[in-house]
Amino acid sequence: MKKITTWLVADCGKIPSKSHCHVVTMAPEDQRKDFIDAVAAHAVTKHGDLDTPELRTELTETLERVEP
Ligand SMILES: [Zn+2]
Repeated sequence: MKKITTWLVADCGKIPSKSHCHVVTMAPEDQRKDFIDAVAAHAVTKHGDLDTPELRTELTETLERVEP
């Protein structure tokens, strides 16, 4: 089993949005692509954002890296 070295954390409280959402999600760094998809889907359905490359860039920049 592969050891997880780093987690990515997305904190809605730090993502600029009109909703006052404070959901925190996390995933292993090697699943970054899937994670961005999930965070973007959340932003679209819960924050009312548009799924654009700019949104994904913005979301990627807000991700925090956490060592286990
Ligand atoms: Zn949210």
